[in-house]
Amino acid sequence: MTRNDSIKKLRDQLVRRRDALHRALEGDLSLLRELHQEKTGDVLDAAADTVQDELNSQLIEAESRELGAINDAIARFDADCFGNCEGCGKPIPITRLRAIPYATDCIDCRRKAETRTGGGSSVLWNRVFDNAEVDSV
Ligand SMILES: [Zn+2]
Repeated sequence: MTRNDSIKKLRDQLVRRRDALHRALEGDLSLLRELHQEKTGDVLDAAADTVQDELNSQLIEAESRELGAINDAIARFDADCFGNCEGCGKPIPITRLRAIPYATDCIDCRRKAETRTGGGSSVLWNRVFDNAEVDSV
């Protein structure tokens, strides 16, 4: 299968997932369960297993978050930039997209972003504050 074919298939999966999540958030979990039976292996699917027992706010939150990520991914399809890393612009390996269809960066850039976080934002705020003080003098 070519990369293009794989990406088209991923789009189909994302659209179906989005519909299932929409309906789940409206209280209809049947479609989500149906998808779960076809494909397993992510966190939300594991969460969907427990849905019969308890429909808790945590699950709703996870679904809302995933729905947002899926909508973003579908928008990138429509803009023809799906599958390209937002960090370095290189194509994201198809194996990574299969695992996380709404990934926006390659593993290298993800690692770099993770090492940047952790106290980084407060440093940035200090810098902004310093500049503001200099300007006002
Ligand atoms: Zn990258």
